[in-house]
Amino acid sequence: MPKKKILIIYTGGTLGMGYKIRGDENSPLIPLDWSEIQNSIHIFSHEGYFVKEKGIEFTFHKFNEAIDSSDINPLHWIKILEIIEDNYFNHDGFIIIHGTDTMAYTASFLSFAIQNLTKPIVLTGSQLPVLHSRTDAIQNLSNAIHIAASDLFGIKNIPEVLICFNDKLMRGNRATKSSSRDFSGFETPSFKLLGDLNEPIKINEDLILPIPDGKFETHKKYDTGIIVITLFPGFDYKYFDTIAEDKNIKAIILRTYGNGNAPTDSNFINCLKNLVNCGKLLFNISQCIEGEVLTEKYNTGKKIDECGVISCKNMTLEAAITKLIWLIGNIEINLIKFAFTKNLKGELY
Ligand code: ASP
Repeated sequence: MPKKKILIIYTGGTLGMGYKIRGDENSPLIPLDWSEIQNSIHIFSHEGYFVKEKGIEFTFHKFNEAIDSSDINPLHWIKILEIIEDNYFNHDGFIIIHGTDTMAYTASFLSFAIQNLTKPIVLTGSQLPVLHSRTDAIQNLSNAIHIAASDLFGIKNIPEVLICFNDKLMRGNRATKSSSRDFSGFETPSFKLLGDLNEPIKINEDLILPIPDGKFETHKKYDTGIIVITLFPGFDYKYFDTIAEDKNIKAIILRTYGNGNAPTDSNFINCLKNLVNCGKLLFNISQCIEGEVLTEKYNTGKKIDECGVISCKNMTLEAAITKLIWLIGNIEINLIKFAFTKNLKGELY
């Protein structure tokens, strides 16, 4: 079998962090340069199992400046797209080391921006730095390598953007960070896991997206003219007027209650109608972590439906936001409703 080539893209995140004041565990964690941690990650070394026994060739690409993923912005996503594009045809799989805070946003954006992906792109990170004595980084990286070099381990090739964390393999645009302390940090609340990486590894093969035939390409345009509003009892509708006047805002995601329900108050309904009349796209997503928008169930849902609010169905908030960032940047505004409600990359039912 020819050698497997895996590209490791290091962006930063807790996996690669160390204390700001060396040796002082009370000082804040800061991202370290890849050169400061690479030698501690023995699974990448020439003497390690993956290189020595499996013949995997790792190549590395690090961000010029490693970042905490709370500092991620779309320019970093474009950078990642460029790195993948430049290396796509001479690698078999990609692992992106990323902070957990915004990992689900990055994974979701990449899933929409990459067309005709035939190879695995696996995002992973850890809750404790790789230099910590109880780190979860090695287990997460090792699992990610199994998925990225799949057939070396008898695993089906998964041509998707994935998150691999604590023995769970998740579709990236279905995942959300659920804990800042538990080693099992991520969930896919309205979807099944793509794989259970316990012993033995079990992949839900029937859920994996088919290998596409078209030409691999990345679409790098984006537009962040979106805001997200969480409804709460007593929310002051006057803020909608400010939003209606702001030309840069093209879409508003309303985080509604339960099955997509919202107040029936005529002042609220009129504000929504006014936003639609001003050319804004309105979207309905539930504040519930699990479940879906089913506005026909209650009158309180039907009312906002009648204003032309578009359902996010059972998408994660991260998927809905990044799908809009990507769609608004790439297609005509009048086509967005149609494209948004379509299942593009397995992000909704
Ligand atoms: N703040 C860190 C980050 O997102 C958290 C982590 O990696 O777990 O970069």
